[in-house]
Amino acid sequence: MGAATLEALAAQAACCTACRLHETRTTVVFGTGSQRSGLLFVGEGPGRDEDLQGEPFVGRSGQLLDRLALEELGLTRAEFYIANVVKCRPPGNRDPAPDEIAACSGFLDGQLEALDPKVVISLGNVATRVLLSTDAPISSLRGRTHAWRGRVLVPTFHPAYALRGGSGVVAQMRADLVRAKLALAAT
Ligand code: SF4
Repeated sequence: MGAATLEALAAQAACCTACRLHETRTTVVFGTGSQRSGLLFVGEGPGRDEDLQGEPFVGRSGQLLDRLALEELGLTRAEFYIANVVKCRPPGNRDPAPDEIAACSGFLDGQLEALDPKVVISLGNVATRVLLSTDAPISSLRGRTHAWRGRVLVPTFHPAYALRGGSGVVAQMRADLVRAKLALAAT
């Protein structure tokens, strides 16, 4: 598996109509970044700016994520991969519905197989709950690493929540990224 596989998956996603989210999307936001870093960020789904630009985590929350990744991991956006659980924007930025998540799961599974990341960082409640198959809140899941599908999963807050939550939440995100960095170095 490698770049060709990801490109083929992205081409499939670009014309996917497997769930109702295709009816309201502007652009399919498949994912972007390095295919070799061993590090994958997973968010819940595209927002308005992402839907318009076709790239995950743009706008203010993306800028915060980029800054924290650079300061705590020493990596620029081009040096890790970033994707979402669903590739099309849920209208009004609502959470993706279970049937939409299920319909889109093959793309994330394909990305995991193609990228084979050593460390996965889940961003926020939705992504973390989907990946860990739990209803527990992010606040009880973050702060530690999880063994997951032969990899290390590091849950952290969604950067949009960190923007609202202030310095305390940002400090916890920083600690989670340090956890991810140590896990990456240990693999
Ligand atoms: S969200 Fe996923 S499953 Fe639904 S239309 Fe978009 S690419 Fe297809």
